[in-house]
Amino acid sequence: MAGGVGAARFLQGLVRVLPEENVTVIVNTGDDIELHGLRISPDIDIVTYTLADIVDEEKGWGIKGDTFHCLEFLKRYGYEAWFNLGDMDLATHISRTRLLREGLRLSEVTDRHRRALGVKARILPMTDDRFETYVKTNAGKMHFQEYLVKRGSTDQVLGVCFEGAEEAKPSQGVLESIESSDGIIVCPSNPIVSIGTILSVGGIREALQEASARIVGISPIVGGRPVKGPADKLMEGLGLEVSAHAVADLYKDFLDAFIIDNADSGECGRIEGLGIDVIATNTVMRSMLDKISLAEAALKALRMRG
Ligand code: GDP
Repeated sequence: MAGGVGAARFLQGLVRVLPEENVTVIVNTGDDIELHGLRISPDIDIVTYTLADIVDEEKGWGIKGDTFHCLEFLKRYGYEAWFNLGDMDLATHISRTRLLREGLRLSEVTDRHRRALGVKARILPMTDDRFETYVKTNAGKMHFQEYLVKRGSTDQVLGVCFEGAEEAKPSQGVLESIESSDGIIVCPSNPIVSIGTILSVGGIREALQEASARIVGISPIVGGRPVKGPADKLMEGLGLEVSAHAVADLYKDFLDAFIIDNADSGECGRIEGLGIDVIATNTVMRSMLDKISLAEAALKALRMRG
C-alpha cells in the first residue's frame, strides 16, 4: 500500500529482493486532480516512473531530464501554473485523459502505462471512482494539491475530508490481492492523506483485518518528524501526536509488525503495548543499500524470504 515518494523509494529496494512480477502496489488516488483539462494522478505516476527507473531522483517526482516548455507557454496565455508538469510527463496525462474519455477505467489505464514503461509490478489505483482529498484550513477548505503545492502547506490544518469516500469501491483486483497475498506492506507514506485514504475505501480496511498474510508497516515518522512532506501538520491538525506510536495506533486493528527508526527506539514499549511487534532499524533511505536493507527487514518481519 503506497502513497508517493516515500513508498516509491521503498519499492525500489523491494523489487531488488523479490521478483518484481510478484509485487502488487495499491496506490493512493486521493491526491488526483484535474488541471488544464487533464487528469493528473501524482502518486500513481511517482510509483510508475520510479519502478520504470525514469523518475527524477532529486525531486522524487516527474521524469528525469524533463523540460517545462509547455508550462511556460501556458503561463503566457495567462494560465496558473503552480502545479509542475513537465513536457514528457504531460504525455502521461494526455494519454490518461484520452483513455478515460474513451471509456477505460483508471486501473486499465494505469496497467497500460506501466506495461508500456516496462514495469513488471502490478500497480492498482485504490479506486476507479471519484475520490478527492480536501484540507480544511484557517484559509478555508481546499484541494490537497492546492494546500500542498500552491500554498506550500503553510495554512493551519483544521481537518481533512475525503470527498467520494462513501461511494468509492476498491478497483478490480485490490481486495483479491489483499486476500491472496503472502505478505502485506504498508509503505512509509503519509498516514492521513496517502494510507488513510486507501483505508477509507469501502472494504479495504476490513480485508486487511481479515487477511491471512502478516501485515507490516514502516513508519514515515523518523525522530518524531516526517522525513519530508506535511504529515506532521496534518497529524497535529487532527489532534494526533506526531510520532511513530501515533502512526502505529492508526493501523493497530490490522498491523502485525511495525518497523520504526532507531531514532525512535524509545517508543518500542508503547507500540508493543498496542499488540504489535516492533523492529527498530535504519529507515532513512538515502542509498540503494538503505532501500534494500529496509526491504529485507520488511520481509523478515513478514517471515518471508526474498
Ligand atoms: P507525498 O507526501 O505525496 O510525497 O507522499 P507520501 O505519502 O509518500 O508521503 C511522504 C511520507 O514518506 C512522509 O511522511 C515522509 O516522512 C515519508 N518518507 C519519505 N522518505 C522516507 C524515508 O527515507 N524513510 C522513511 N521512514 N520515511 C520516508
